[in-house]
Amino acid sequence: FFDYNNHHGHHDHHDGRNANWAKELIGDALRDRVENIDHEFCEPGEEDTFFVADLGEVYRQHLRWKLNLPRVKPFYAVKCNPDPKLLELLSVLGTGFDCASKNEIEQVLNMGVDPSRIIYAQPCKTNSYVRYVASRGVRQMTFDNADELRKIARLYPEAELYLRILTDDSSSLCRLSLKFGASLDSTDSLLALARELGLNVVGVSFHVGSGASDPCAFLKAVQDAHVVFQQAASHGFSLKTLDVGGGFCSDDTFEQMAGVLRAALDEYFPAHSGINLIAEPGRYYASTAFTLACNVIARRTIEDASAASYMVYVNDGLYGNFSSIMFDHQHPVAKVLRSGGRTLYNTPAAESTDCVDGIEYSIWGPTCDGIDRITDSIRFPLLLDVGDWLYFEDMGAYTKCSATTFNGFNNNHDVIYVCSEPGAKALLDLH
Ligand code: PLP
Repeated sequence: FFDYNNHHGHHDHHDGRNANWAKELIGDALRDRVENIDHEFCEPGEEDTFFVADLGEVYRQHLRWKLNLPRVKPFYAVKCNPDPKLLELLSVLGTGFDCASKNEIEQVLNMGVDPSRIIYAQPCKTNSYVRYVASRGVRQMTFDNADELRKIARLYPEAELYLRILTDDSSSLCRLSLKFGASLDSTDSLLALARELGLNVVGVSFHVGSGASDPCAFLKAVQDAHVVFQQAASHGFSLKTLDVGGGFCSDDTFEQMAGVLRAALDEYFPAHSGINLIAEPGRYYASTAFTLACNVIARRTIEDASAASYMVYVNDGLYGNFSSIMFDHQHPVAKVLRSGGRTLYNTPAAESTDCVDGIEYSIWGPTCDGIDRITDSIRFPLLLDVGDWLYFEDMGAYTKCSATTFNGFNNNHDVIYVCSEPGAKALLDLH
């Protein structure tokens, strides 16, 4: 942990909800790190990219979830960002975990989390992983096809099964229904087969696509799930749980999505129905908590008749933490952290400018591949040079977890933790 209480004379009586306080903490951590690097003489890798993670932001997101979806228990989707401190805080806050592989399940179990707080939410599972979860007592898992039911009947007949149904994910960033989900005309026969095999179907799950933007997708999916609950009853199953998946963003679309979902749940699965409600949010919890800092390692001047522009090369790119550009359709926005020996975090000079007077840059990653471009065109009011630093906010979701080591670059960068919510810090200290 970056010692924020003693740094620059801060004390912990600050209002934890204050966004400026969070910025100050993140800025202090960034500044402390980059000002202590001697770019002329440092060891190879000392100037590597690094993250600052504000666990207070995760805590605020959790409170926001509870306010907007009080009946829905989140099972954090570990795939989104398996950062150990992030998982630890969520575990202390009492969330469950959505895992998709043996390693994810092992990581969560090794934190001391009870197997009942894990759902193995991967409808097409590896045989040996199914045997593994059976041996570790992780019972909840999803399925969406007949072959998987036969696999589970053979390897783990005691499992508690969720039938994952298809959704309309056409408005989402990352569509999942091309690959997963049973259509409503197949659910009846799947339930019949589950019955015949003597399996234990306990719920229905869906996912409206990651980065969803149409709240109506939630309404339709809840309605479909309600139909499947009735089908299940006609086969003699008494389903206990609805899993509404992920897809929630952390921007202000969340309140709108949550509002539509809450109303749909209140209509089709009201509190008195006794049905448990769970979800699998990933991006919602992780995205805004992580800021990434990158060093400018090279610059190429492009002479033009009117004005020079520059290609700057930084030490992270599409094959690294900016994998989110490829896999998650993101457009991270660069800001200036340090230039010309001055730290500019969170000042007007750090921000890009639309103004034509600004100097134009394209920003490139460190690998030999031409695809490795972070930004095609951005303007800053100052001249960037080798040794300067850029930062990118909202880099917590689907970034580090899908980084490669292509060209021999490190993909396991340092994370400096801060905590802008004393409540979250206290929970972690107690833990
Ligand atoms: N659950 C499942 C089964 C997923 O496949 C995903 C993402 O791909 C998630 C949850 C997390 O989704 P999100 O990050 O959109 O909340």
